[in-house]
Amino acid sequence: MQPPFRSRRRVLARSSPTSQGMSRRSLRGSLHSTLLVTIAKGVQVLDYDLHCHSNISDGTLTPTELVDRAAERGVKVIALTDHDDMDGLDEARAAALRHGMTFISGVEISVSWRTHTLHIVGLGIAPEYPPLAEGLCGLRSGRGARAQKMADELARAGIGGVLEGAYHYAGNPNMIGRTHFARHLVEAGHCKDVKSVFNRYLVKGKPGYVPHQWAVLADAIKWIRGSGGVAVLAHPGRYMSGRVGMGKKTMHELLAEFVECGGQAIEVVTGSHTPEQYAEFARYAEEFDLLCSCGSDFHGPGESYRDMGRLPDFPLGCRPVWEAWENNA
Ligand code: AMP
Ligand code: MN
Ligand code: MN
Ligand code: MN
Repeated sequence: MQPPFRSRRRVLARSSPTSQGMSRRSLRGSLHSTLLVTIAKGVQVLDYDLHCHSNISDGTLTPTELVDRAAERGVKVIALTDHDDMDGLDEARAAALRHGMTFISGVEISVSWRTHTLHIVGLGIAPEYPPLAEGLCGLRSGRGARAQKMADELARAGIGGVLEGAYHYAGNPNMIGRTHFARHLVEAGHCKDVKSVFNRYLVKGKPGYVPHQWAVLADAIKWIRGSGGVAVLAHPGRYMSGRVGMGKKTMHELLAEFVECGGQAIEVVTGSHTPEQYAEFARYAEEFDLLCSCGSDFHGPGESYRDMGRLPDFPLGCRPVWEAWENNA
């Protein structure tokens, strides 16, 4: 059954009441009804995409091409969230400005937590904040050696000479990652698409998987918060224990630690979640008093779960993450 949806978009010309003196719950109710009335009157609404990648990490488009595509597809507020690197932000911001879009500086930080690799998105970060810039620099520095090991492991499994091919796909050699290997292996005819390469070679338990130590959860959140950003747990439905999700008990422990460390939001609507997962993580958001985020996690045409542009609405009751910066404006 489909959960009830509330619009993920914000009404531009919001009529009173304002947030002053209102409880969160009554504010939610009033925003929702204001929204319905205002949509009926045809007032412009905003489309948010707060998670996507350029070729500064493992996307296929340049930051400019990515923002141009988002603009064409109706996105009005965009956050570029490359993995462990902020070098695309200036170019993306300039492109967003040309389109009259609102630009949010973002990043997606790789974290090792227990046996899991987690991704923590930072929204509204200040890239010049030294602990953040230095922390990410440290994370990137391990990628070259990891790539070499991946190539060695694949060679042992009978697929030789892939390192050069993978680097050919890396727009930024410091950010070489599994996706670049996957693209090369598709081109070399080993699998029909990127997804199949991951399933066959690059996930835990497969021949080309190399375990890696990423950032500590508390550090990643500290870098984001210290730079003025909001820390968001990315695509929580993707963290697996074998073939199934990490399980309720572990998810509870993760969210408790995330909040304890200063985490403020969770991705509810993301390209890789099902509608059931929108509802599931909206419930976790409510339980842990977290804001809710949405983004396509777009990596390139034809390669991603979903394209940029109109995403499904949040389930009813979600407090959108943009309240964190729009209420402070
Ligand atoms: P890395 O940081 O090098 O470990 O690469 C992580 C990236 O690989 C993710 O951000 C995704 O873009 C991609 N990825 C991870 N798992 C899969 C999968 N099962 N199918 C397709 N892409 C994946
Ligand atoms: Mn990626
Ligand atoms: Mn991710
Ligand atoms: Mn991502």
